[in-house]
Amino acid sequence: SGARVRRAHNKRLPQYLERGVDVKFSDVAGLGKIRLELEEIVKFFTHGEMYRRRGVKIPGGILLCGPPGVGKTLLAKAVAGEAGVNFFSISASQFVEIYVGVGASRVRALYQEAKENAPSVVFIDELDAVGRERGLIKGSGGQERDATLNQLLVCLDGFEGRGEVITIASTNRPDILDPALVRPGRFDRKIYIPKPGLIGRIEILKVHARKKPMAQDVDYMAVASMTDGMVGAELANIVEVAAINMIRDGRTEITTDDLLQAAQIEERGMLDRKERSPETWKQVAINEAAMAVVAVNFPDLKNIEFVTIAPRAGRELGYVRMKMDPIKFNEGMLTRQSLLDHITVQLAPRAADEIWYGGGQLSTIWAETADNARSEARTLVLGGLSEKHHGLSDFWVADRINEIDLEALRIVNLCYERAKEILQQNRKLMDAVVNELVEKKSLTKQEFLRLVELHGSLQPMPASI
Ligand code: ADP
Repeated sequence: SGARVRRAHNKRLPQYLERGVDVKFSDVAGLGKIRLELEEIVKFFTHGEMYRRRGVKIPGGILLCGPPGVGKTLLAKAVAGEAGVNFFSISASQFVEIYVGVGASRVRALYQEAKENAPSVVFIDELDAVGRERGLIKGSGGQERDATLNQLLVCLDGFEGRGEVITIASTNRPDILDPALVRPGRFDRKIYIPKPGLIGRIEILKVHARKKPMAQDVDYMAVASMTDGMVGAELANIVEVAAINMIRDGRTEITTDDLLQAAQIEERGMLDRKERSPETWKQVAINEAAMAVVAVNFPDLKNIEFVTIAPRAGRELGYVRMKMDPIKFNEGMLTRQSLLDHITVQLAPRAADEIWYGGGQLSTIWAETADNARSEARTLVLGGLSEKHHGLSDFWVADRINEIDLEALRIVNLCYERAKEILQQNRKLMDAVVNELVEKKSLTKQEFLRLVELHGSLQPMPASI
């Protein structure tokens, strides 16, 4: 028994402790208000006594929900880093073993260590691997997993309300978790972490650029615009790849171009995971090329930042990003002419479909933009901006609705003809853009403008509408 006592004093080397975790909230970008929620968790550690005295319940566990790479692990580390406590981590897939009892004993060991070295954060990655609703898996694997899950529940309950060990878990599937896990006192707080938006991506890029020799004039907006749908892990990668690019060229500063190139490489990696037939790639390319080729003719729309056929979040097909004059746009100062131009751009996919595919099929590829064009035309007429009717008042009468629609239709038809004309005149440019899009999936502003210079035949065509 003497030996046993000695061993208890002689702490084992903790197996699940991550040493040297030095992440701070300032390393996690683009999270807006979510950060405030996590700052509160830090206070449970730093001001635990105050919370207890006031009878505030300290959460048992926090569930970070969201897709891979958005920074869930990073956030959990930042909580430990800011609070100055130990960080223990395990991936739940490691719990799931073929030998009965192994998973449960790992969970026990993990919490034992975390308690011996409290205060601490226990981070469980991919909680769904073990936390899937019980009974969904049959056979002995299921039994083993149930035993592990039960052990986890026991451990979570063991710390309820004490605030010395706080468990943070991550999952992409909070919906399939066993209800027992999300009961009060267990994972009773859910925080959703979405993919970053445009501003979020700029902030994340800047965080990763902090420790790198960036050129003074790096255009983060351009890079962020090109990386729609990407998460923090991918953006971090882009900065790394850009740095390698710089070193390979023997330069001393990372430029916008390095970043844009790296973004394309990252995107192609993403694309290799998507399947599309060559015909579909081409059809999408024609659709997007048509919008870009028509838009580049118009003064308010010609600032095309990039053209892509990469599938992105929320946009299954492709995407042309036009930078409108932000002041005019935000203040609603678009002129009649620029509205007409915009309508024309939206009709370009439909016009291209007619030219290249004979227009014999209804394709969802152009249906959406054509629909936008129709409603924009209606707005234009209602706003009294069509040439036929300069006065507003005429239209606010019920029996003129039909007239409004007819006038909108007339505008749509004229714009449609105009889109077709521009495309016919620019067949060479279209071919070039389509080919490069199919090959590279995305064109930067410079790449696109070069093709316009080589093959385009632009001419201002004032519309007489
Ligand atoms: P998750 O746990 O959600 O899968 P990680 O936290 O492991 O994602 O992210 C991987 C890496 O990506 C991080 O170490 C960091 O370099 C970068 N990263 C992800 N999200 C962000 C973010 N919001 N801010 C800064 N960097 C991020």
